[in-house]
Amino acid sequence: MERRIVSDYGANYGTVNPIYGLPAVAAMAAPPAASNHGPSAPPANMFDTVPGYEGTVAGGGGGYLPPPMPTAPMPVPEQAPSPPDWHIPSISEERAREAFATYVSSNCCYSSGPVKDGVITNMESFNTYRYRLETFNESRSTEWTQEPFAGQPVDAGVQPAPGPWQITAQPPAFFQEHKQTIRVPYTSSVKNCHVCLGMGRNPCKTCTGAGSKVCWVCNGSGFREGNDRCSHCNGRGRENCSTCNGNGSCQCDTCHGKRQLIVFINLNIKWSTEKDDFVAQDLSGLRVEKLQKVSGKELFKDAQYMVYPVMGFPDFSVAQASERLVRDHQVKYAQTSRILQQRQTIELIPVTKVSYMWKGKSHVYYVYGNEFEVNAEDYPATCCCSVM
Ligand SMILES: [Zn+2]
Ligand SMILES: [Zn+2]
Ligand SMILES: [Zn+2]
Repeated sequence: MERRIVSDYGANYGTVNPIYGLPAVAAMAAPPAASNHGPSAPPANMFDTVPGYEGTVAGGGGGYLPPPMPTAPMPVPEQAPSPPDWHIPSISEERAREAFATYVSSNCCYSSGPVKDGVITNMESFNTYRYRLETFNESRSTEWTQEPFAGQPVDAGVQPAPGPWQITAQPPAFFQEHKQTIRVPYTSSVKNCHVCLGMGRNPCKTCTGAGSKVCWVCNGSGFREGNDRCSHCNGRGRENCSTCNGNGSCQCDTCHGKRQLIVFINLNIKWSTEKDDFVAQDLSGLRVEKLQKVSGKELFKDAQYMVYPVMGFPDFSVAQASERLVRDHQVKYAQTSRILQQRQTIELIPVTKVSYMWKGKSHVYYVYGNEFEVNAEDYPATCCCSVM
């Protein structure tokens, strides 16, 4: 058998494969990645060349397909209205104390002394903004897939396959994650199974095709102690292989014994929301990561096909972050996927720094977010459990 190495896309020579009897010129040139698959992976020339799907490989892993350029001009994003008046909400001493008590009681070994006897000496508000940009997009990729052939419709070549972005799919509601797989029309064809070479059966792996194996009772001698014939194998020294019932071969797992496979291209569509946050620096001393799991007061919300960066917001770093992230998302997602909707919000997250005295020493805790989360890293009355 003559084999030639396929070196590149678009080469019109391939492997001469006696199984499929394809002339060399019709065999598809495989992308280099196809050679990385295991021994049971289908040979590249099992798949026809489908215009518009040239880079498609078995097992997925192919790159995402860039959407075609829009035929209509992109709509111009609407100028965001300036944010409404806002005020910094401050919490009462009572609320701060209550949050502190809840926090301490949820930590198994914390003593409640500082909550009961601590005296609040100062409360300062440090309010911080969180800008969030979400981009809801649709991406598409393709892969060659195979199934045992059991009479499914075969339509390859009946007419040209529609392009990956010409196939219609029903998107979910905006910002709902979803996946869908669609069999690309006019790509299904029937091939002999490459694993069993069209036989429907493969040599049994347990007995390597012999149909029998050494008798476990007499270890192959045919005799038990002395000259007694082994009753388990009737003196044969071998017994039937139970995996293949003595046949020496088993039904092929790949084609389920059908001898043929139907091969076709699947289009995998994925809708996902990509999210980026920016938190404006504050001077409270509370670590910014702490703010990730809390919500704030929504000051501004804007959702449309493509958002325009927020303008004129009092905190300049927020406006800057908006401009940067809107640009980043367009660069990142408009090329490999189709942007369906964007949403941007600005939240005001209240952070209150509470200073208190307990047993003659000054300590600090923070109350933050709509949830009144508490952070007290220097809590003075922890015991055993907090020692790692
Ligand atoms: Zn035996
Ligand atoms: Zn066997
Ligand atoms: Zn097979």
